[in-house]
Formats: sequence, structure tokens, C-alpha cells
Amino acid sequence: MTENRYDLMIIGSGPAGLTAALYASRLGLNVVVFGDIPGGSTYMIEQLSNFPGFLTEISGTQFGTMAFQQAQQEGAFFTMTRLKRLRYENRMFSGIDADGHQYTADCVIAATGRLPKRLAVANANIKGIHFCSICDGPLYRGQKAVLAVVGRDNTAGQHAVTLSRVAKKVLLISSSEKLAMDAAHIRLIEKQGNIQQLLNTEVTGYKGAEVIDGIAVSTKDNVAEELNIDGIFLAIGWRPNTKMLDFEVAKTTEGYLKTDQQLMTSVPGLLAAGDVRETDMWQVLTACADGARAAKYAGEYLEQN
Ligand SMILES: Cc1cc2nc3c(=O)[nH]c(=O)nc-3n(C[C@H](O)[C@H](O)[C@H](O)COP(=O)(O)OP(=O)(O)OC[C@H]3O[C@@H](n4cnc5c(N)ncnc54)[C@H](O)[C@@H]3O)c2cc1C
Repeated sequence: MTENRYDLMIIGSGPAGLTAALYASRLGLNVVVFGDIPGGSTYMIEQLSNFPGFLTEISGTQFGTMAFQQAQQEGAFFTMTRLKRLRYENRMFSGIDADGHQYTADCVIAATGRLPKRLAVANANIKGIHFCSICDGPLYRGQKAVLAVVGRDNTAGQHAVTLSRVAKKVLLISSSEKLAMDAAHIRLIEKQGNIQQLLNTEVTGYKGAEVIDGIAVSTKDNVAEELNIDGIFLAIGWRPNTKMLDFEVAKTTEGYLKTDQQLMTSVPGLLAAGDVRETDMWQVLTACADGARAAKYAGEYLEQN
């Protein structure tokens, strides 16, 4: 078993991890990055249209690959293996990767992102399933589309309102009998005029060959029907990736890592950046900004400890 000693471990090769690697390397830190896909979740972005600076079309995959190469050029070492487990003892972190190699570091940035929950129905990966209305809503602009939103909380409400501005009609579907969103969201939904609420209703299947063109739904009274739609946005929750952390650390009830203004978690030396962190915007741009700031504060932590 080999053991490798670094100043800083970065877990995650998405926008947050890659930007942290870029900045930390430029600060002269000895950095190792664990990851799987260069660019992380950006591979799911067909067209990255809301990141400033690209006048021509750029896919999430292209963006992720370039950010990966840029961080490598600055000297960050990428294992491109996943970190299986991270331990914290005597103010020192020790990790073991999927190949059984051991690493130690004084400081760690968790930039492991989050995964959207999907409906447990057949054909769950058909095209036309979305998780981000700000990102993918504009794909339906000018198409007189009928879009479904599944969920009951403020996020679902926000998706419904965002989509109502590009779609002909939005179906807001929840298996609950009441929406669990604040009054401001309810007011906005009612104001739009093209959002139809389908409560006590469960989506039981997706229809369509390659791209979704309908859904099967069933009500509490067992009335089943099929509805034509052009796309569906799921807001049924996310799972922040924190399973590899083998010690107690403060999290929100949804499992996001809590941080202070310097992105430090409740464990000294463990910072969090990007979608895995408790935040109010889950975007490439905000993940990159987190990565840059986490690297800066990791550098300061290493200097002071
Ligand atoms: C379908 C979809 C469309 C989107 N469209 C847009 C858009 O148009 N514009 C926009 O700005 N944002 C968009 N987003 C959001 C954007 O992708 C995320 O906000 C951004 O990727 C978050 O970056 P991150 O680095 O925090 O996490 P991620 O990009 O999720 O990267 C985290 C990486 O860490 C890996 N990881 C997890 N655990 C471990 C471990 N133990 N060891 C090693 N690696 C690990 C994960 O597998 C992943 O590769 C979209 C998201 C989705 C799902």
C-alpha cells in the first residue's frame, strides 16, 4: 500500500473541484484531486449558455474538459479515482481511494456535488427529463410546450414559475394533497395563469420512444390517465455526496455541508465548495466561485496551522 502526503486534497472533479485545483496550484500548494469525470456534472449540460465569456456554443463536456486541462497545466495532480473513505484524526486527514492507495493531507476541500433524485419508474433515463429550470427551461422557448414539474416545495414552485414564462402550460404535479411552499410562491403560481396544479397525483410512467412525449399518472382514487407533455422537471430532492466522510460534520437536514463565511465546515481544515455545500444557487458559475474562494481559504488555513 503506497502513502502519499499532500498539503491539500480536493475531492471532486466538477467545476468547484477543478477551480479549487487551479487556484490552489497557482498559490503553490501541493495538491491532489480525486474525481471521476473531468467536469463532474457538467457532462449533463447540453449547452452551457449562462456562463459568461463564451460567445459561441459550448457544451458542458467541452467546458469540463478545458477546465480539467487548465488545472492540470498549473500542476495539480489528478488521480482520477474516487476517494472511498476520508478519516480525520489528530488534525490530519487520511484518505483511501478506490484503488487502495492512501493519501494524507492537512487540509481538504470537499467538492463532491450532489445527485438528483429520480422517479422510480421504468424508462427513467429517457430524454426530456430535467432537474434545472434556469438551465434547461430556455430549450423550450417559443415551442408552445406543455411541461410538467414534479414536486411540492419552494424549488418545485420556482421551477413552475420559471417554466411558465417559456411554456404554453405547466402542470405542477404532487402526490401530496397540499403544496408545501411559502405564500409568495403560491401567489406567483396563481398569478401566472398557465400553471395547473395536479395534487394527489403520482407520475407512474414515462411515455415516448427516445424522447418523452407523455406521462402516465394515477390519482389517490386510482383514476389513471395519460397526459401529453414535452418535457418534465423533477424537484423531488437531491442527495449531496458526503458518504465518503467517515467522521461527524455539521450538515443541514437535507444533507448539505454547513460552512462559515470562509467555506470552513465544522471540522477544522475541511472546507466545502459547490453544490455539496449549503447554498442558495447550484450553478457552474457559483461552484467555480466557491472553488476559488475555498482554495484561498485553504491556503490561509495551511499558513496559520
Ligand atoms: C441536467 C443538469 C443541467 C444543468 N445545467 C446547467 C446549466 O445550464 N448552467 C449551469 O450553470 N449549471 C447547470 N447545472 C448545474 C451544474 O452542473 C452544477 O451546479 C455544477 O456542476 C456543480 O459543480 P460541483 O463541482 O459543485 O459539483 P459536480 O459538478 O456535481 O462535481 C462533483 C464531482 O465529484 C464527484 N464525486 C462525488 N463523490 C466523490 C468521491 N468520493 N471521490 C471523487 N469524486 C467524487 C462526482 O461524481 C462529480 O463528478 C445543471 C445540472 C444538471 C444536473
